[in-house]
Amino acid sequence: MLIDFHTHTAASDGDLSPRELVELARARELAMLAITDHDTVAGYVEMSTGPGREYTQNPAGPRLIPGVEFSCRWSGTTIHILGLGMDCGHSAMREALEWLNLARTERGRKIAERLEALGFNGALDGALAEAGASQLGRPHFSAWMVANGHVSDHNQAFDRYLGQGKTGDVKAFWPELAQVVEWIVAAGGVAVIAHPLKYKFTRMKLRRLVLDFMAAGGQAIEIMSGYQSADQTGQLRRLASEFALEVSVGSDFHREGPYNPLPGVEIPALDGLRGVWERWLPTPSCAIGGRPL
Ligand code: MN
Ligand code: MN
Ligand code: MN
Repeated sequence: MLIDFHTHTAASDGDLSPRELVELARARELAMLAITDHDTVAGYVEMSTGPGREYTQNPAGPRLIPGVEFSCRWSGTTIHILGLGMDCGHSAMREALEWLNLARTERGRKIAERLEALGFNGALDGALAEAGASQLGRPHFSAWMVANGHVSDHNQAFDRYLGQGKTGDVKAFWPELAQVVEWIVAAGGVAVIAHPLKYKFTRMKLRRLVLDFMAAGGQAIEIMSGYQSADQTGQLRRLASEFALEVSVGSDFHREGPYNPLPGVEIPALDGLRGVWERWLPTPSCAIGGRPL
């Protein structure tokens, strides 16, 4: 059975509309899907209560789980925390989304200020126009730079101006890790450390992150994210087992293309671990022939 608890749509930095993503997930026969856009639940809301409702009420699935990917600060680094299964209308979620929205706008201003100091005039308006209704992010600055011939492509924009350690790499505005975890938990969700190996921490530092995350109420880590080696999956499974964390899996899908994982991850063997998805499986009584509820 395929499931996916980490995907993006055009509501943040993905290419597909929420509807197109759900259709793709259905075509690939996913049983469960969480749209986890950066700092917004607009895609989920559109597909669960908005104009996309008829798509998700289709018994062919996938079952849509509320999701989000929040950016936060921890120990001088930007960390991504997924929220799954929260009540999107809860006051804690509204506060979180407002906070992150403001942080993104402030960060966008700061990035633009820095780029304009380098001579890229009109960066903020350009990036805002690229973003449209989506959450403003560095990809929108990069799209504007490409469109205006300042760089040859997206990779060059990140290598020269926007990537880690470059002028446009502004981190200071994100909320703290503990705050983000608390918001998710208060809204009834489960917090998940996204792609734990992507931060390239030492083993010691990763354990420190896990401990701080758990102290704030965090309960799960991603053991599979996009394409990764069996070694990496093994390392993350051991980490989950050592700290009795639940495990989650996702493609981190942004768009179709060569080397890009498509939505859908085969449910891994648990061998004593607990999967976050177990929360949303039909209750066993249904499966054993109990009368459907
Ligand atoms: Mn992204
Ligand atoms: Mn991420
Ligand atoms: Mn992601």
